[in-house]
Amino acid sequence: MKKITIAVDGFSSCGKSTMAKGLAHEIGYIYIDSGAMYRAVTYYCLQNGLFDDKVLDAAGLKKQLDNINISFRLNEETALPETYLNGVNVEQEIRNMDVSSRVSIVSAIPEVRHAMVALQQEMGRQKGIVMDGRDIGTVVFPDAELKIFVTADPKIRAERRLLELRSKGDEQTTFEEVLQNLKERDHLDQTRAESPLKQADDALVLDNSHLTRDEQMQWLVEQYNKVVDSL
Ligand code: C5P
Repeated sequence: MKKITIAVDGFSSCGKSTMAKGLAHEIGYIYIDSGAMYRAVTYYCLQNGLFDDKVLDAAGLKKQLDNINISFRLNEETALPETYLNGVNVEQEIRNMDVSSRVSIVSAIPEVRHAMVALQQEMGRQKGIVMDGRDIGTVVFPDAELKIFVTADPKIRAERRLLELRSKGDEQTTFEEVLQNLKERDHLDQTRAESPLKQADDALVLDNSHLTRDEQMQWLVEQYNKVVDSL
């Protein structure tokens, strides 16, 4: 069967990765979490003293960009891809609040975006890929055959994100902190000069505030089948 490219974009913590992962699994495609790449660069900055609290040494980062190698490797047990920074598994570390509260600063830097977009395009060259992010349908794969733009009520998103943090053992972060972080990231992601978060003209919008995972998956598979049947 002909393979296509699927772009899933949308606001922070909308469940994009859950749906993209689920869809990829269902149809036997590769799943790539592009946000993990920006998170890994942010983690590198934190590890290498490029942040003074929330102030980034952007010039320093640009000079060191060539030293940052990001890749994904499949975890054999979970069958899910995990993020590696310079050969080290950082899948857990890149999800914490230190990274979440700084990633939109790093992802606004054009040189960082150019490097990540080039890597993402290379990963998707053979198609058969579901990639989630902010600019996948607009910049990374403008010709993707299926583009989904996901949105959900901010409070529902914050609740979901908090549950995820709790399940990973974070008992400290409060609901307000998570909500504040989501709003800040949405704002920064939508207003940055370089490839801001916006809906592609040809994207299908999905508000999943009140959908179960099963309902969402059913809708996604239907959209996928429609596209594949029309080829
Ligand atoms: O998807 P996730 O929330 O993990 O993404 C983390 C951050 O990475 C986003 O808030 C955004 O700043 C950045 N990002 C981006 N472009 C993408 C994916 C993520 O700018 N394609």
